[in-house]
Amino acid sequence: MNQAELHSNVTGAIALRARDIVKSFGSQRILDGVSLDIERGKVVCILGPSGSGKSTLLRCLNWLAPPDAGEVWIGDERVGVKEGPQSKPVPRSGREIRAQRSRIGMVFQSFNLWPHMNVIENVMEGLISVKGMARLDASDIAAEALRKVGLAGKHTAVPASLSGGQQQRVGIARMLAMAPEVILFDEPTSALDPELVGEVLAVMRGLAAAQTTMIVVTHEVAFARDVADLVVFMDGGKIVEMGSPSQVIDQPSSARLRQFLQRFN
Ligand code: ADP
Ligand code: MG
Repeated sequence: MNQAELHSNVTGAIALRARDIVKSFGSQRILDGVSLDIERGKVVCILGPSGSGKSTLLRCLNWLAPPDAGEVWIGDERVGVKEGPQSKPVPRSGREIRAQRSRIGMVFQSFNLWPHMNVIENVMEGLISVKGMARLDASDIAAEALRKVGLAGKHTAVPASLSGGQQQRVGIARMLAMAPEVILFDEPTSALDPELVGEVLAVMRGLAAAQTTMIVVTHEVAFARDVADLVVFMDGGKIVEMGSPSQVIDQPSSARLRQFLQRFN
């Protein structure tokens, strides 16, 4: 195998790659050189105090907040820019960026379902409006996604009649229906009553067991310990520690992480 083949094999295993991401808002540097690789089929959990830049990092990864510096790659494609003349990066068109973004699914703390649409219509919406799919095909895919999150019996329910946990599961089904290559979860259980957290984590455990590539920002340390292949601890816009759950959660090496974890014991 020559060097180029070796390289393409190595990068082929990486679903999403961030290199030296820098992002400021005004004079405040929110991300200060963050690098992270996520391999296909793996789960990365990101822990960190409020304000450490976790949401901003996810928004940089899918270009909702384009970084000021650094690179993001989905597979072999650089997000946001491409090689131009003289090998200089040039911005991609809005259409190309939307196409890249559709390869990354995102689930937020707030579910943002359409209140006037029933459950299956909520899940079909993106398939029809973004992917241009026929209603019949969209409803087949939506039904399958709802089955995966345990809501096969709720197609015609309206969001307001569902619990928060069920609404978040619809949110997950809506994202799964779009068949992204990587899924970003931004504190998906933080808005839920404690008794509803478990059903959403159970769906996420199922996705992880099915080799779904996921980056999960969460305060659920027990979930991270069980499910993550890689745990990342962020503080002050930097990755402070990164490693296996047993390294990072059970044997933290920095005082900042030890202090952060104490809150969850
Ligand atoms: P986390 O998700 O870890 O709680 P965030 O990424 O949401 O942290 O925010 C990190 C910092 O960036 C916070 O101080 C926040 O106020 C600031 N910030 C985030 N988004 C914006 C924005 N759009 N404009 C200005 N400041 C922002
Ligand atoms: Mg956040």
